[in-house]
Amino acid sequence: MARIIVIGASTGGLRAAYTLSKEVGKTHEITVVSNTPEFHFVPSNPWVAIGWRKRSETSFPLRERLEKKGARFFSTGAATIDAEKNIVITGGGEALPYDYLVIATGPSLAFDDVPGLGPQPQGHTVSICTVEHAEAAYARYEEFLKDPGPVIIGAAQGASCFGPAYEFACILDVDLRKRRLRKKVPITFVTSEPYIGHMGLAGIGDSKALMEHELRQRHINWRTSATIRRVENGKMIVHTNEAGEEQMPFKYSMIIPAFKGVDAVASVPGLVNPRGFVMVDEHQRSKKYPNVYAVGVCVAIPPVEPTPVPVGVPKTGFMIESMVSAAVRNIKDEINGLKPCASPTLNAVCLADLGDTGVAFVAKPQIPPRDFTWAKKGAWVRLAKIAFEKYYIRKMRRGNAEPFYEKMIAAALKIKKIE
Ligand code: FAD
Repeated sequence: MARIIVIGASTGGLRAAYTLSKEVGKTHEITVVSNTPEFHFVPSNPWVAIGWRKRSETSFPLRERLEKKGARFFSTGAATIDAEKNIVITGGGEALPYDYLVIATGPSLAFDDVPGLGPQPQGHTVSICTVEHAEAAYARYEEFLKDPGPVIIGAAQGASCFGPAYEFACILDVDLRKRRLRKKVPITFVTSEPYIGHMGLAGIGDSKALMEHELRQRHINWRTSATIRRVENGKMIVHTNEAGEEQMPFKYSMIIPAFKGVDAVASVPGLVNPRGFVMVDEHQRSKKYPNVYAVGVCVAIPPVEPTPVPVGVPKTGFMIESMVSAAVRNIKDEINGLKPCASPTLNAVCLADLGDTGVAFVAKPQIPPRDFTWAKKGAWVRLAKIAFEKYYIRKMRRGNAEPFYEKMIAAALKIKKIE
C-alpha cells in the first residue's frame, strides 16, 4: 500500500485529494495536511472585502468531507518536510511518512519586500489574498466610508496575481457609486505591469485596450511599471520612469504583494528556486525528489517576458486543475509500475467580475505566441462568474473531483463559436 500525503487543501490540494481518493484511494492511504480546518473559495475574496459576500457563504469544513472519502486529515499544517527521509512533520509534532508527496501550499505573501506594505499592525494597506485579509479589508472599508478620500489599488513589483486587483478596483468603483460617494474618492491603479492589461501574461488578446477603456470609463487613473518604494500612514511612495518619485496620499489602499514559497517548503534543500517556489519537470515532479509532486501557486514558472519592473506569471484555476490532473495520473502510473507521462496543459482562463460587467480572458497556451487568445467583456461574464462560484463551492462541498475550470473553458469556447 502506498502512502500519499497532500499538503494544502485549497484549489490545488483539495482537488488533488479528491482525485487521488477516486483514482487510488480504495487501495492506498491518502493523508491531507492543511494549516486551516476550512476550504475557502479564494476567487470570492474581492467580494468578501467589499461586503458582497460573507465568509460563511464561500467556505466549508474539510475534516468531515475528507474523512468520508477515506482520507486522514490533519489541520495543524506541515511544519517541516524531510524530503531525504520522506517524512512530513506536522505543526502538532506528528511524523507522517510518505511514498508520494503532493505539495499544494500556495503562496506566502511577501509584504516585507516593501516597507509599510500589508495589513495592520505592520503595514498600512489591506489585502484580499486570504479570506482573513479580505474580512479585515472590509472592516477597514466600513471605517473609510465614514470619512472617504483618495484610494490606491494595485499590485506591487514582483506580483503575479493582477486579475483580482483589477476586479477590486472596479467593484469598489461600483460600490462607491451605489453609495453616492464616488465623487469624493479619486481612485488610482498602481501596477508593476508594463501596461494596463498585461496581467503577467504579455496581455491576452486585446486585454490592453479593453482594460484601459474600462479604467478610463470609470475615471480610474493609473501608473504602470511602478515600483512601490515604501508605504507610510496615508502616503505611498511610488517610482515610475515618467514621473520619478511621487508621494501619493491615500485613505484606503489594497495592494497585491509579490508571492514567495511558504517556509515549510522553501526550507527543503534543492526543492525550490530562490523565491521558494517548487522546481518541477514537465510531469509536475520535483527535479530533485522524484516522489515529490507540486501543484498550484507553489510551483515555479518563469516570467513570460522581461519587463522594466519585475512581474510574475499568474497561476489560475484552470492551469492548477491541469497540474492536478497530471500529478494524480502520474502518481497512479508510478504506483502501477509505469513511467509518469502526463503533463499539464498550462492554459490560462479567467472570469473577472468588474462589479457591473465582467471580462473573460482565455490564453492557450499562456506563453506567446499562442494558438488562441480571447478577451471579451459583457454582463454575461459577471453572471457566469457568480454561477461558477455557486457551482464550484457546492460541488467541492460534496466531494466532487470533476475538472470544473475545464468545463468553464469548454462553455466559453462554445460561446466564441456561437459568435
Ligand atoms: P491556495 O489557494 O493559496 O491554497 C494553499 C493552501 O495551503 C491554503 O489553504 C494554505 O492555508 C495552505 N498552506 C500553506 N502553508 C501550509 C502548510 N505549511 N501546511 C499546510 N497547509 C498549508 N484564479 C482563477 O482562475 N480565477 C479567479 O477568479 C481567481 N481569483 C483569485 C482571487 C484572489 C484574491 C487570488 C489571491 C487568487 C485568485 N486566483 C484566481 C488565482 C488562483 O486560482 C488562486 O490563488 C488559487 O486559490 C490558488 O490555489 P492553490 O491551491 O495553489 O493555493
